[in-house]
Amino acid sequence: MIAFLKLLARNRMAAAGGIVLSFVVALAVVTPLLPLQPPDVTNTANRFLPPFSEGHLLGTDHLGRDLLSRLMWGTRLSLAVGAAAAIIAAVIGSAIGIVAGYFGGRTDNIIMRIVDMLMAFPYILLALAIVAALGPGLMNALIAVAAVNIPFFARNIRGVTVGLAGREFIDAAKLAGMGHGRILAQELLPNVVPVIVIAMSTTIGWMILETAGLSFLGLGSQPPQADLGSMLGEARSALITNPHTSVVPGLMIFVIVMSINLFGDGVRDALDPRLRSGALTRPRPATIVDRDNVPDGPGDGVLDIRALETQFHVGPRVYRAVNEVSLAVQPGECLGVIGESGSGKSVTALSVMGLVASPPGVITGGAVFHDGHDLIGAPYRDLRRLRGDKVAYIFQDPLATLHPLYRVGDQLAEAILVHHRVGKAEARARAVALLKSVRIPNAERRIDAYPHELSGGMRQRVGIAMALANDPEVIIADEPTTALDVTVQAQILALLDDLRRERGLSILFITHDFGVVAQLCDRVAVMYAGRIVEEGPTAEVLAAPAHPYTKRLIACVPELGQGRRELAAIPGLPPAVDRLPAGCHFAPRCDKAREICGQEPLPLARSGARAVRCRFPEEDIASQEDTA
Ligand code: ADP
Ligand code: MG
Repeated sequence: MIAFLKLLARNRMAAAGGIVLSFVVALAVVTPLLPLQPPDVTNTANRFLPPFSEGHLLGTDHLGRDLLSRLMWGTRLSLAVGAAAAIIAAVIGSAIGIVAGYFGGRTDNIIMRIVDMLMAFPYILLALAIVAALGPGLMNALIAVAAVNIPFFARNIRGVTVGLAGREFIDAAKLAGMGHGRILAQELLPNVVPVIVIAMSTTIGWMILETAGLSFLGLGSQPPQADLGSMLGEARSALITNPHTSVVPGLMIFVIVMSINLFGDGVRDALDPRLRSGALTRPRPATIVDRDNVPDGPGDGVLDIRALETQFHVGPRVYRAVNEVSLAVQPGECLGVIGESGSGKSVTALSVMGLVASPPGVITGGAVFHDGHDLIGAPYRDLRRLRGDKVAYIFQDPLATLHPLYRVGDQLAEAILVHHRVGKAEARARAVALLKSVRIPNAERRIDAYPHELSGGMRQRVGIAMALANDPEVIIADEPTTALDVTVQAQILALLDDLRRERGLSILFITHDFGVVAQLCDRVAVMYAGRIVEEGPTAEVLAAPAHPYTKRLIACVPELGQGRRELAAIPGLPPAVDRLPAGCHFAPRCDKAREICGQEPLPLARSGARAVRCRFPEEDIASQEDTA
């Protein structure tokens, strides 16, 4: 709730609307307590007094009634009628919508056809017809306005409910033996309430206008009772001679409807969970950079990540997702990055090209050298030129990264056309060649397939083909095989290995599986809670892991043909990256940890090709170097 209010306050227009609206509502509430003149007492001697006349701050109308008093009482009435109509329409309409959406089938059909019939009439005509049938009067106007808005709520809520009713948690509730009533009230209603609130906040302004419209036509509030619409209607004949009588209620209607709409938009945004983490701003095209320490270039290798620090600033919290991570990839090399889920692998990979969503992401230190230039803080134009051209990504879920509505060939051609001016036919020919190069059989035909027509392994091959489209120097593969089954995984790994050799590609390969690292990577870096804890040639690290964490990770991998053995899970959980311990992050879970481990930070100690960040390593990497 507090987070919701904070978000709302951050949206300036919505906050202004909210303040004005609260002020108007507060005035309407206290109107009976104010020392106002009676609103309905006529005094024809004082007709059409201008504003700021003595005793009449806003002047008087054609019957000499005090405009200020009529305005206050009228506002009170208009707000009350508008709000009441909105609540009635929301309650009845939503109930209809939920029932129709949940039961579906014939119930849905019958209810919705009736609603459609109501919707077929222009609503102001429908309201007029209802008032004509019931007779003029404020209460009947209220009923009419509520009635014409019921279909709007019913349609909206039905649509949302149909989506929810097919979801597994509703099936689970049914399987648990819950009755329809309880499912509707406890499972569905809480999920549609935000939608109802949003629909109300955006229609209540309309309802006030519609009520005012009926009163303006003389069908709503009856003389001498004032509401904003009837005040405007009565002032119509004096519009030219005494404009203040129309301007006063007109301005009030404008202020109310404007503030409600601005506020309603703010409520809608603040209730949208997708906008919450992004704090109501769209992510920028490149991650925000705010660096204290900037390492000197030019760096070595194709991609040299130096002391990279990426954080997420969410309110007062700082999540240190990546802490002084240094990784260098040499030409033609495959470097593995391994760690548990949440250890900062993806954020490291995305930081390279400034792809971490900002806000909340900020790169607070370090550099990434490519071709002698620092990519961190590079102008967006340069980043865009390199993205997908020199440095390409392969992501975990190819179904999510491929556009579902375009044929894979068109998507491949698009990837080429972004960076190269070639003709359509040429792009298509290249796309076919790419599909062939990732060993997709029958490439000429497959090129016209949609992503959903391909299997998971085929889709990931398309993902790899897209990454290869512009002959990149480096491919960053973020768990590209995690969504695939083991046999397909083995094929994809073999394919990547072949491509690397054929094209001299450098690969930064992210995974949580030591088996995959062993198969593909020349070197491996082990990440834990945003830091590199060990680095070295794959064979050496596998044979003699130096960090206790690496040793435990390797022990987690089952080995076929080695007989039965106990698989060692690592007890405990990785630390939350907004509350990291001062010393070694692994100390609380480490069985070799002593008191000092948790207290003082330790740098990564390098010795030849290997590096480890541990006071009491399993293997002495320095002595190994001597004997080697
Ligand atoms: P993984 O190693 O599984 O790829 P990630 O790099 O995705 O892990 O995440 C690293 C850390 O960054 C996680 O602890 C996560 O909590 C944090 N993180 C990622 N995205 C956000 C975000 N938008 N806001 C706050 N924290 C985030
Ligand atoms: Mg990840």
